[in-house]
Amino acid sequence: MWIDTHCHLDAGEFDADRAEVVARARAAGVQQIVIPAVSVDNFETVRHLAHQHGYAYALGIHPLYVMGAAEEDLATLDRALTAHRDDPHLVAIGEIGLDFFVKSLDVQRQQWFYLEQLKLARRHGLPVILHVRRSADQLLGGLRRIGVTTGGIGHAFNGSRQQAEAFLALGFKLGFGGTLTFDRSLQIRRLAAELPADALVTETDAPDIPPQWLYRTFEERAAGASMRNEPGELPRIGSDLAALRGWTVEEAACITRNNALQALPKLAGLQAQPAPRA
Ligand SMILES: [Zn+2]
Repeated sequence: MWIDTHCHLDAGEFDADRAEVVARARAAGVQQIVIPAVSVDNFETVRHLAHQHGYAYALGIHPLYVMGAAEEDLATLDRALTAHRDDPHLVAIGEIGLDFFVKSLDVQRQQWFYLEQLKLARRHGLPVILHVRRSADQLLGGLRRIGVTTGGIGHAFNGSRQQAEAFLALGFKLGFGGTLTFDRSLQIRRLAAELPADALVTETDAPDIPPQWLYRTFEERAAGASMRNEPGELPRIGSDLAALRGWTVEEAACITRNNALQALPKLAGLQAQPAPRA
């Protein structure tokens, strides 16, 4: 049984067939999905989806959304975290972080929202789900400065070995997904193969980050082909991870599942709940 630690199940790409996407994920052996929020506008949507399907959710303001966010949104986040403190489905603060790849984003505004949300993580005692894009050192600096001890997940990790070790030292796990299925992803494949076994969690980031078998060329996309990723792809991604590690597929599922439960401890309580009705 697999855990998809990062899937934007609320995305518009799934509006037409979300029930089928969930059914395919279940049939493929994906037992649990973590649905991170990206702005206050989708807090209720991710919460509702998680409850509807027996999944988990996180609340936070994504770095790509801070330009449209108001300072008041932090108070809204704080209130939501308080209101849902006893909700077993609320497992983390996320998706938060820093994106230094997209050049149009205000660095200082991103930093401010990131640090303020780390303070909320510290205050509410929740792990964080981090968006890491050319920003690993700055993210690590924020974690140290605010003194976040609850760990979490560095999602779609694409940093150096040294940066990976620094996240692990702070109690984080690192998320690996579709990118590792490409032969040309040398650095990510090397990390996935060589990091300690207890460092790795699996994720799809669906509908984004398609694995190699869903990839379509620019010309194919121009002709209308979709490369939408979905959580049901996780076991096949996981079997590529197993091959890199020299694990059986069952070992890969078991090890990454245990790691996810360590990174997001409230997931354990969720597993024990009776299966939700459809
Ligand atoms: Zn994401």
